[in-house]
Amino acid sequence: MKRTTIIRNIRRQSQLIDVHTHVGTDPANFLRGDFPYAQSAEDLVVRMDRWGVDTAVCFPFLYTSYFDMAAFNKGRMLKRRSKDPLVPYGVENARLCQEIYEAYPACAGRLLPFMFMDPSRDPAGQVEQLERLADQYPVFGLKTATSYLQSHITDLLGKGECLLDFASEHNVPFMLHTSVAPGDPWANVHTILDVVRKRQDVRFCLAHTCRFDRDALEQAAALPNCYVDYSAFHIHCDLVKMESTSVAAKPHRFPTAYRQCAKAMAAIATAYPDTMMWGTDSPYYCFMSRFTDDKGHTQISKLKCDTDAEITTFRKLPATMQRRIGYDNTIRFLFGNKGEPAT
Ligand SMILES: [Zn+2]
Repeated sequence: MKRTTIIRNIRRQSQLIDVHTHVGTDPANFLRGDFPYAQSAEDLVVRMDRWGVDTAVCFPFLYTSYFDMAAFNKGRMLKRRSKDPLVPYGVENARLCQEIYEAYPACAGRLLPFMFMDPSRDPAGQVEQLERLADQYPVFGLKTATSYLQSHITDLLGKGECLLDFASEHNVPFMLHTSVAPGDPWANVHTILDVVRKRQDVRFCLAHTCRFDRDALEQAAALPNCYVDYSAFHIHCDLVKMESTSVAAKPHRFPTAYRQCAKAMAAIATAYPDTMMWGTDSPYYCFMSRFTDDKGHTQISKLKCDTDAEITTFRKLPATMQRRIGYDNTIRFLFGNKGEPAT
């Protein structure tokens, strides 16, 4: 199956795209007792069929076997000892492509693989592997979550700029995990926006509704190469109720009724009509996990969400809004330009 064929089919037949999901497994999550920790391509397709989703962007889970797992689970990022050459996500990205295009080809064309990247560790080695994978399989974008890698996002403007060059040359977008937490200097949403502003030849998606930071949402909306997704929207609304530092504090927060998720989702889509994209973060729409902050302290999350909550909320929106955030904007992010016709 060719990339161009897949794109043509999506433009012709797809109605609803989930822009943020994970396929694979996270053995570090599993052994630590966190939940969730896995989702196969088939598991995801079963969920998509249950929800009426035609197409999903998917990327590997967070842990990469590049790291020594025991150290990783203590918040220390050490390269694993190995006789074989290692690059971050080398195994996981190849595994994702094999799963989609070889092990379970029924999902090829419905699942669009994004390759997970680490901006700080051996970026040239990662690009080399990426070029090989992109030669072999249709690849649709890049993804990183620098908080959990303890990599600085600004490395994308320095030693990791070859990753952005790859995105630009192959005309594929970049999905970025965002944060506003004070103990997270790695994925601060405002620092991310500086990167986005400096590389307008690359399209970016800022995940998790920019943690509801109003100024960040405004800036993202004003940039021609920047989109924002709603991934794990319910648990983020819960974080507002808890006044958690994982979301913007009230003076900086987009003002809306976070106790009514559909109202909040609609208000944000109305404010930023060309920028917002629907995504579930499946299976991480619920999140029982641990995170080590910059002081080495463990932060524990216990965030619950029902299997159908994200789609149920989305379906409460007006049909034209569903089309915009569930298809039109996503098509532009994946294959085109902001504001241009989606079909
Ligand atoms: Zn995610």
